Amino acid sequence: MVTEPRVLTAPEPRVRAALDGLPAGDLPAYVYDLTGLAAHAAAVRAALPPRVELYYAAKANPEPRVLAALAPYADGFEVASGGEVAHVAAALPAHPLAFGGPGKTPAEIGAALDRGVGRFHVESPHELRVLAHLSARRPGASGPVRVLLRFNPAVPEGLLASGALAMGGGPSPFGMDPGDTDAAIRMLTDGSHPRLELTGLHAHLASGLAAPELAAVAEAVAAAADALARRHGIALGELNLGGGMRVDYGDPGARFDWAAYGAVLARIAARHPGLVLRVEPGRALTAYCGWYVTEVLDVKHSRGAQFAVVRGGTHHLRTPATRGHDQPCAVLPVASWPHPWPRPEGGPGPVTFVGQLCTPKDVLARDVPVAGLRAGDRVAFALAGAYAWNISHHDFLMHPHPAVHFLDGPGSGP
Ligand SMILES: *Cc1c(COP(=O)(O)O)cnc(C)c1O
Repeated sequence: MVTEPRVLTAPEPRVRAALDGLPAGDLPAYVYDLTGLAAHAAAVRAALPPRVELYYAAKANPEPRVLAALAPYADGFEVASGGEVAHVAAALPAHPLAFGGPGKTPAEIGAALDRGVGRFHVESPHELRVLAHLSARRPGASGPVRVLLRFNPAVPEGLLASGALAMGGGPSPFGMDPGDTDAAIRMLTDGSHPRLELTGLHAHLASGLAAPELAAVAEAVAAAADALARRHGIALGELNLGGGMRVDYGDPGARFDWAAYGAVLARIAARHPGLVLRVEPGRALTAYCGWYVTEVLDVKHSRGAQFAVVRGGTHHLRTPATRGHDQPCAVLPVASWPHPWPRPEGGPGPVTFVGQLCTPKDVLARDVPVAGLRAGDRVAFALAGAYAWNISHHDFLMHPHPAVHFLDGPGSGP
């Protein structure tokens, strides 16, 4: 299951000082480095051609301060539930939203129409009919309802295989088959639904691809979209290429090659002068800004192996359990020890970090090659800014929730 190397990482000095400076009573804590996040988002934006729009997939981390830090660099936000529509609209009232995701309910679609959500990523002919029905019942609403059909085009064999999660390219509950896509295009172009505008197409086929593979997927999606448009004799205004840019948990210093990806998007854009291209990453924008910092409660030696039991665990940081990886971490030594008896200690050598849950699945990182560690030391887990706290089963075993701190950004401090 574990395919990635076991990694130690080191926070940069500014972040390290903040992690060391947290009050002991605040552990475990999530620390979001908003300064680092803004710098990263600016670099991503700068690497994309001007005509490519950048949306942020809010489900990766919908924390309002995180959304606000991204807002200056994002053209909009992709939301995938009625809850996310309401949450992001409240956090950032003036920002464009695109409502995607499978299984939208009529109530969610109606509420999104009432809010004037700018774009709907429609997943099936039935969903299109619901949208048509509900928009026709709101005759007073202004402007067209913009529809991007989520399709599931064929991409070259093997291209999606290197990703962590494939959502297209084969049988999939996401997006539409070619026959359904054709039927949906006819519904939108035969004059029967004047409120709905066929604005474009959307494809999000895999998560966890490196730049060369994701760029090849973009080429295939653009070619398929072009063929579809020609066959129906329509001009597409927008093509959303989805997210899925790789975050390498085995190499926390590595970054998705946005410049190489952006260069391919520039070539696609040049071939289609009237087309707005859009990407909607989640993980690769926010993963790096988050740290989950806690303390070692105990160190145990068991039949030749060493375990560090930390306060908290995968009920706060579920990412390593769901993905089956080792979360990169740093040991931050603490000098003081409040007890008269010796400190439990381990290392040098491999130590497995586990949490407080009564299950063998509560493992944050296996066999980490630490120089040494003692009970009372702090451990900071990196790459905890996306699909981390918000995907975790917080209330299992009823431990207290972590504190949340923000570094820099307006009106903040540790
Ligand atoms: C989850 C999701 C994204 C973001 O995916 P990442 O792997 O976090 O970049 C983008 N678009 C859609 C439709 C999604 O479901």
